[in-house]
Amino acid sequence: MSYELERRVAIDAVSLAAQLCERVRKSMPQAVAKQDKSPVTIADYGSQALICRAIASAFPDDPIVGEEDASSLSDDNALLAQATDCIRDFIPEATPTRTLDWIGLGNGEVADRYWTLDPIDGTKGFLRDDQYAVALALVENGEIVLGVLGCPAYPLGDGEKGAMFVAIRGRGATMTPFGSDMPQSLRVSSTALRFVESVESGHGDQSRQSAVAQAVGITEPSLRMDSQAKYAAVARGEAALYLRLPSPKTPDYREKIWDHAAGVLVVKEAGGKVTDMFGQPLDFTQGAKLVNNQGTVVSNGEIHDTVIEALAGQPV
Ligand code: AMP
Ligand code: MG
Repeated sequence: MSYELERRVAIDAVSLAAQLCERVRKSMPQAVAKQDKSPVTIADYGSQALICRAIASAFPDDPIVGEEDASSLSDDNALLAQATDCIRDFIPEATPTRTLDWIGLGNGEVADRYWTLDPIDGTKGFLRDDQYAVALALVENGEIVLGVLGCPAYPLGDGEKGAMFVAIRGRGATMTPFGSDMPQSLRVSSTALRFVESVESGHGDQSRQSAVAQAVGITEPSLRMDSQAKYAAVARGEAALYLRLPSPKTPDYREKIWDHAAGVLVVKEAGGKVTDMFGQPLDFTQGAKLVNNQGTVVSNGEIHDTVIEALAGQPV
């Protein structure tokens, strides 16, 4: 299958959502706390609404497993009105009821074929004026077949920023700077001497991550980035490794599918490798969480086995 229609619909939807997010970000949005205490803004809701509307219209039978849930918005009329206003800039027929319906389209379940969406991955980075990503992937029979990462703040050098990273299974990965229509093909690096990790120390184990990186010969300090932009950094060859080990504060945390699916395919199609911390492939068939995996190791491929060996030898 060529996935040409899926690719086009996904890229257009992520581009529109990225524009919405950037517009909201300029207006200094307020975050509200979700039940799990993580922050959410009207841009998270707006992005999910735009993307789910587009996917559901082109592929009405496909479930979408998205991060956000409309129920927290339906209790807050003022927030719902603000979210609807920002969607209306892009979709004139938006109303509060439609906003809730579109967001609700993203509360589907994992099936033989499903989409998974993080409307703003790295909301903390988004609020800090740092990195974030609009992340959308299509999974068929447990295999990620399409991954799209819109990274509006991704640094490209010479003060330029913002790019779309796209991968189709078996067909490679590309980066298209925002404003350009020339995709560049992506390749991991075998010479990069850096590793990437989260900005948020609570989303990993930074001391163990540094120890493992050193054990495989990476001596430079880490590049710290929010969101799946870290996958883009490995795919572009700016880093050889992205380590995400369970935080000692949340040792039983299981990663969410929408925090990884798009990035995983971008790195794999750029020639890299992705597993959990034990070297096992990530299992996208089990629901919203990667229940069969812990931690993630994302590499240029070459150093992967050495990293897994170093992890096995490192005291927890
Ligand atoms: P990052 O920007 O790489 O720090 O990752 C952001 C993502 O971390 C969010 O989308 C959350 O789903 C996820 N997250 C939240 N809590 C944890 C945790 N305790 N360990 C790992 N990831 C987490
Ligand atoms: Mg996320």
